[in-house]
Amino acid sequence: MGAGQLTIDLKAIQRNWSALDALSADTVETGAVVKADGYGLSARKVATHLAESGVQTFFVATAEEGAEIRGAVGDNADIFVFSGHMPQDTTLLKTHGLIAVLNAPEQVTRHFSDAAGYPFGVQLDTGMSRLGMEPGDWQALSTELMLAGPRLVMSHMACADDADHPMNAQQLRAFHDLTDGIASRRSLSATGGILLGPEYHFEVTRPGIGLYGGFPFETAKTVVQLDVPVIQTRVVQPFQTVGYGCTWDAKVESCIATIAAGYADGLIRAMGGKAQVFAGTTPCPVVGRVSMDLITVDVTGLDQVPDHLTVLGPDQSIDDLAGAADTIGYEILTSLGARYQRHYA
Ligand SMILES: *Cc1c(COP(=O)(O)O)cnc(C)c1O
Repeated sequence: MGAGQLTIDLKAIQRNWSALDALSADTVETGAVVKADGYGLSARKVATHLAESGVQTFFVATAEEGAEIRGAVGDNADIFVFSGHMPQDTTLLKTHGLIAVLNAPEQVTRHFSDAAGYPFGVQLDTGMSRLGMEPGDWQALSTELMLAGPRLVMSHMACADDADHPMNAQQLRAFHDLTDGIASRRSLSATGGILLGPEYHFEVTRPGIGLYGGFPFETAKTVVQLDVPVIQTRVVQPFQTVGYGCTWDAKVESCIATIAAGYADGLIRAMGGKAQVFAGTTPCPVVGRVSMDLITVDVTGLDQVPDHLTVLGPDQSIDDLAGAADTIGYEILTSLGARYQRHYA
């Protein structure tokens, strides 16, 4: 077996959803964000599992992603598309009953002309300057939009994973100013916002990363385990170098294990020389550069080199690994490669 084994615990995702759901009042609906193929873990499998346990509202980035999960969630679930109504989307939106979240006046015009009578949501920009209508656009269009009855009016927070950031209260204030009194359900919070407290919850929440076990949901259950087979071990002598560029050399006689995954599998090159992997519960440093298909690990001191080393699991979260590569858990998850053998538990 030459491939890494990626085990994805769908029950842990379901439990993480329930734990996040329990943080808001019963009147608040907790949705689930399954964009980017369910943060790399299979949108269809994640959505099927969550729909079976009662989740009714799903969020994706594109209409294509929405179409991909429609069969999995059943006809009655709401699927919101964050990118809204793009020029080629009309047929997909209509065929699969997807709800475009309109982000700009051009999208409103397109939707009302090409999909009049079809449901829609609205995103407002409250300071992130990424997606969503500017306050001026909203002022000009809100009467017309509210008459048509959006299924959701939402905004997105820029700094919600930092509870002390002043931007949080600022965006909350802006969202209130733009939407207080409207006759529509509202949504402001992703995972970070849910953790900020009830005043951020409104009627619908949109957790993504917390479902998959990532920061800032610190008490999340572990969702992914990645075990990578050891292909070869060798003993290297002092001054002998390991890997491309000869960036690491042995200080003492050392045992090096070469494992069957590399940056083409999402174990990004920036973690070379900084990450560790695990033999059971024993950490072993990654040494030298990460190659496309291979990583070299210093296993000196293990009594016995196991047949695989664990890259992600109970002892190393996606955020731990992300730290070694100067990135975030989201990028580790969505980079997990296509060569792994995936097991769903
Ligand atoms: C990705 C995304 C979410 C989910 O965010 P997490 O931080 O993963 O919980 C929610 N809303 C919007 C608009 C998003 O783009």
